[in-house]
Amino acid sequence: MTRVAIVTGGTRGIGEAISLALKDMGMTVAANYAGNDEKAKAFTDRTGIKAYRWDVGDYDACQQGCAQVAAELGPVDVVVNNAGITRDGVLAKMSFDDWNDVMRINLGGCFNMAKACFPGMRERGWGRIVNIGSINGQAGQYGQVNYAAAKSGIHGFTKALAQEGAKTGITVNAIAPGYIDTDMVAAVPPAVLEKIVAKIPVGRLGEAGEIARGVAFLCSDEAGFVTGSTLSINGGQHMY
Ligand code: NDP
Repeated sequence: MTRVAIVTGGTRGIGEAISLALKDMGMTVAANYAGNDEKAKAFTDRTGIKAYRWDVGDYDACQQGCAQVAAELGPVDVVVNNAGITRDGVLAKMSFDDWNDVMRINLGGCFNMAKACFPGMRERGWGRIVNIGSINGQAGQYGQVNYAAAKSGIHGFTKALAQEGAKTGITVNAIAPGYIDTDMVAAVPPAVLEKIVAKIPVGRLGEAGEIARGVAFLCSDEAGFVTGSTLSINGGQHMY
């Protein structure tokens, strides 16, 4: 049986690596994205993975997008909530929109996607949900009250939903990446990034594939006893 997976924000960065890792496992993958059609088209041309455009922060769009994926590819067995944005700034300078956009997309997106896909997983008695949190949701980060709150919320969301899925074959886990070499981290000023890398015990940024391999394990049949957990993949930067 071929499993169907949706990877939100699955067309570039960490999401692209996750889409490819799940495809390599034999899954049929739908890669969602927000609006960068050019990158999404290049991704599909490169990988053969179909891309679907919708905003994960929009509840109705998630319902419609997931229904479209199910109609075209089959019932959805796996959801990886990877889509995320940053709108950094110290509290004094952070607008309500900066707060709200990050909460709506990073945390609200997990709720919206689970609402669309969890009931079907329960009916079929098998499912995998992996939510991409962050080291900054675990440890906090100057200038990121919005992002840290949303990512921290993801870790709580994961543990709560894991309890609801446990009896029906659905596992719900989180991954907390450290600093990974993607467009998101490329936006960090070089001087700040240098200081960050100096704090990573392994002495380098992570690679998207290193997160994807963790996701692939959590989505496998072999990981059926792993639920409600957070896998930290951060080069030793934050241990607890
Ligand atoms: P990128 O900025 O490289 O890619 C983000 C992806 O998410 C893109 O595909 C983008 O689509 C999509 N996306 C953004 N907003 C939405 C939305 N509203 N609806 C649907 N898709 C959306 O991010 P990364 O690969 O760096 O990060 C991936 C995840 O990992 C994020 O959740 C991030 O917070 C988390 N993370 C990243 C770390 C890092 O160091 N890079 C560290 C810790 C966590 P489009 O191409 O159309 O814009």
